[in-house]
Amino acid sequence: MARTKIVVTLGPATDNLGIIRRLIEKGADVFRLNFSHGTPEEHARRIAAIRKAAAGSPIAIIGDLCGPKIRCGRFANEPATLKEGNPFILTARAIEGTDGAVSVSYKRLPREVKRGDAIFLDDGNIELRAEEVSGPDIRCRVIRGGDLRSNKGINLPGTTLSIPALTPQDRRMIKFGVEQNLDYFALSFVKSPRDIYDARRLIRALGADTPIIAKIEKHEAVRDLEAIIEAADGALVARGDLGVEVPLEQVPLIQKRIIALCNRRAKPVITATQMLESMIEKARPTRAEAADIANAILDGTDAVMLSGETAVGKFPCEAVEIMDKIAQTAEENLDERRLLMEQLLPEEGNIPDAISQATAQMARSLNASAILCCSITGYTARFVARYRPPCPIAVFTLNPKIQRRLQVVWGVVPILMKEMKGSRKRDGFDAIIREAVKETLRKQIAKRGDRVIVTAGLPLGVGGATNMLRVLEI
Ligand code: PEP
Repeated sequence: MARTKIVVTLGPATDNLGIIRRLIEKGADVFRLNFSHGTPEEHARRIAAIRKAAAGSPIAIIGDLCGPKIRCGRFANEPATLKEGNPFILTARAIEGTDGAVSVSYKRLPREVKRGDAIFLDDGNIELRAEEVSGPDIRCRVIRGGDLRSNKGINLPGTTLSIPALTPQDRRMIKFGVEQNLDYFALSFVKSPRDIYDARRLIRALGADTPIIAKIEKHEAVRDLEAIIEAADGALVARGDLGVEVPLEQVPLIQKRIIALCNRRAKPVITATQMLESMIEKARPTRAEAADIANAILDGTDAVMLSGETAVGKFPCEAVEIMDKIAQTAEENLDERRLLMEQLLPEEGNIPDAISQATAQMARSLNASAILCCSITGYTARFVARYRPPCPIAVFTLNPKIQRRLQVVWGVVPILMKEMKGSRKRDGFDAIIREAVKETLRKQIAKRGDRVIVTAGLPLGVGGATNMLRVLEI
């Protein structure tokens, strides 16, 4: 299996226990539930099916909050045809759409749009220019025309709207996700670190500590990238909306920046959207798609994601299988990147970072078969993984929650230990290492006679206290 993690979005094409089992067999590590579609009851059924199919293996689930996506309303006859040069009205009034007007879901929109603003519809396929705002109506000119169907998205790349990232619907779904013990929330349309703090406050008030992945898809987020990544627990390059919010040609460079920033902070990063788009219809992907996946991996993405390919596509299991193959081949060529990362000086004075880098370096120079990492909080594991060591990173943890969360981290094989006896005492650690070695052999991560590198923070249980490195022949 690939060391890059694969995130699979479930939907009507994969709503069945047998298919979910096959997706796991083919390489799915994480499932994403898109809260923009479906009822809580449907999501609860999917969660139950994932847990049944996982059969005790640490499959993680991300609840993707839909956020304040602005959409157009319904049309009486579909599709409406918007012709270049014609007028078109976006209105806060509740109307049935026609070729000349449609309602919008965000009722304050006419108050926040200015004359001259560019407005994009349907993933950027249609472009309007606001010419005049008159009460609830935004009178626009069609700059690029096309056919428009009900509920399509609206983006305003040059306008900062006052709409908050957390909608009442998101608040309800966070409560639902906490009750369902989801492993991550993905927060859509993040504009600033404040959005992350607001979501975190709500999660904490519900008595949970679910990590938050910031979806980078707004032009405002691109401007405040470092602070957002600092505030979040990980990031998702949401190239769909991002490609409408910023000029399309900037998406590849922003993707590289997001990946580099996340690697630097040892936070997991997921590259998403249209990775195998052609496989929605066809059994084989394009060469460009294969190159896209490989390049994201060579740049340092922790995970690659499938959306429509597995939610509504005709070949969901094949898509996971081919993604896994492309990833494995790219990983064989990660050497260059490894060298690059190893040349980076660890953050000055940062012991965990220095030890993690040394761990990865030693794993390579001593030709180790595995890194054994005792990580109660997952912190050490993330730091070791960011150096992309050449062998598996077996991470031993006591907490099933941490075990599942580590599923989005590149190269990590998270293993649950029932106990780590004596973990509070320095000399008790030998017993823990013996247990970890036993598990490593049992899971065939390494074999007798192999060399392994052991790393941990002693005493165990303090996040960010990585301070131990040992070489063993097992
Ligand atoms: C995206 O826009 O690329 C994305 C992943 O978000 P969503 O699927 O929620 O539109």
